[in-house]
Order: sequence, then C-alpha cells, then structure tokens
Amino acid sequence: MPATILDGKKLAQRIRAELAEEVVEFIQNNGVVPCLAAVLVGDNPASEVYVRNKRKACEAAGIESQLHRLPSDTSQDELLQLVAKLNKNSEVHGILVQMPLPPQIDPARVVQAVSPAKDVDVFHPENVGRLVQGRPRFLPCTPQGVQQILMRSGIPIAGQHVVIVGRSDIVGRPLSILLSQKGEGGDATVTVCHSRTPDLGAITRLADILIVAIGRPKAITADMVKPGATVIDVGVNRTEEGLAGDVDFAAVREVAGAITPVPGGVGPLTIAMLLGNTLLAAEALEK
Ligand code: NAP
Repeated sequence: MPATILDGKKLAQRIRAELAEEVVEFIQNNGVVPCLAAVLVGDNPASEVYVRNKRKACEAAGIESQLHRLPSDTSQDELLQLVAKLNKNSEVHGILVQMPLPPQIDPARVVQAVSPAKDVDVFHPENVGRLVQGRPRFLPCTPQGVQQILMRSGIPIAGQHVVIVGRSDIVGRPLSILLSQKGEGGDATVTVCHSRTPDLGAITRLADILIVAIGRPKAITADMVKPGATVIDVGVNRTEEGLAGDVDFAAVREVAGAITPVPGGVGPLTIAMLLGNTLLAAEALEK
C-alpha cells in the first residue's frame, strides 16, 4: 500500500489560521501589531521568492512585515548598521536576514549582531545555546516545522529511532537536539549522518523516522528505507523537471508508511513557524 502523504500545506494553513486568532488577541491586549523586518541583500532569485512568501504569510496572519532591500555590493558595516537600527526600533519584533549573503559579508558576524530577543530564525549563538540546554527562547523554524508535522500527524516520536541525514546548523543539527530532548515532541533516539558516513543505506534502513536534509535531488532511494517508516524530506532542489526533494518520492512512497511531498511538505511549515516566533518575540518584548 502506498504511503500516507503528510500534507504540509494543509497543516500549515491550519497553524496559520490558529496564529491569526492569537495575533488578533495580541493586538487587542497590547495595542501593538507584531512586526517582522526582513533584510534582503542582493538579487538572488530563490531568496526573493522566500522573502516574498514569508511577507505574504505575515500579512495573511495580521503580522506587519517590513522589507529592507540592500544592493549586492553592500559592505558588512552597512549591513551591520541596518541590523543595529532594527535592533533599536521598538516597532520591530522579529528580524530576518535572508541567507545566503554576498561573499564580502561574514554571515556569522551578522547572525551575532541580531538582538537575541528578535532572532526569530534562531541563529544567534545565545539562542542556539539555550536550545541545547533545553530552555529555548524560540524553536528554530525548519526543525520545529518537522516536529510539528510529526506531532500533528499523530506519529510517535518518543522511543523511536530517528535517523537524520545532514548536519547543517539550519536543519540537521538543531533537529537532532529538538527530537532527542526530554519531553513532548522529543525522547527519540537520534542518529545523525553526513557526507562522511560510510554505507549510508545501512543506517537509514534502521530508521523508524527518516529525515533528509542534504540538498541532493532524489538521493534517498527505496532500498534505503525500512518498510513502514515515516520519511520527512526537507530538501528543496531546483532541477530541470522542476522542484525535487532529497528523496526519490515516487519509489519511496511505495515502501514508506508516511511521507512528505516536495513541494508542499516541510516548506510551508517553516514559514508558519517563523510567524509563530514573531508573535512570541512580540509577546516577550511588549510585556
Ligand atoms: P547544507 O548546509 O548544504 O548541509 C547539507 C548537509 O548534508 C551536510 O551536513 C552534508 O554533510 C550532508 N550531505 C551532503 N551530501 C550528502 C550525502 N551524499 N550523503 C550524506 N550526507 C550528505 O544544507 P541545508 O541548509 O541543511 O539544506 C539541505 C536541504 O534542505 C537543501 O535542499 C535546502 O534547500 C533544504 N532546506 C529546506 C528548508 C525548508 O523549509 N523546506 C529549509 C532549509 C533547507 P557534511 O556536513 O559532511 O558536508
């Protein structure tokens, strides 16, 4: 029997509708509209699409969004000055600096410059440290989105063997922390694989929940998946045939128990989590 499709788009719509109600309540209680400031440096077409989608989602949820556009030859100091201005601006609750940045700018310097209280992407070392210690200010957007897909689809996490392929700072590593933490949405036994992992298939076949974030189209084939496993495909790859995930969807859905599609899987959840973090930031800053 083919796998159940985990419809991220529908789930994200539901979460965004819940959030919109919370935003109305927040505005009534505080007389302030939550606001996300997005910073876009240069003209990377994928970044343009990501920022546009995030702003559209903000507006639909009643969250104000600002776009600060800088040319691709912006210096590091100029960008840091803008971030400092946004940190001080009491009307701005969340700051998002869209990655990647042009080569003359050190992303680590920029990430450190964003006020941790407004760091809704959860890239600042203070917020990553808090996450590791189990007392997060915000949960990182894509990992939180994956966790929400699992929890809201009724897929058990506690006691399951989760194999994550990819160890990036944005997806794999924080996700491994989130799912292995004590408590609701955690308590999994997590294995993290990467490009130096020999015989990847031998490990992915052990997974009750297989999560893939490597940026290699269709790299995970049906023989690498345990029958009945849940497969979460974080990958977004632009190929000649259109967008493709890191998982060979057509073949793997015949083996897996449940699977996320690309597009329409993790991506929409990531945006919904960003809105949630912006509201959380506004609640904390307006207290
Ligand atoms: P990244 O920073 O490039 O990291 C890729 C990771 O995959 C690295 O840890 C790398 O190992 C590992 N890797 C690469 N090739 C591998 C292979 N053949 N076998 C095993 N491991 C391999 O990528 P990322 O930022 O995490 O993004 C991964 C994918 O997710 C991309 O397609 C990206 O577009 C997508 N993404 C989607 C969302 C969303 O909301 N849907 C959000 C973020 C990212 P090493 O560490 O050894 O190099």
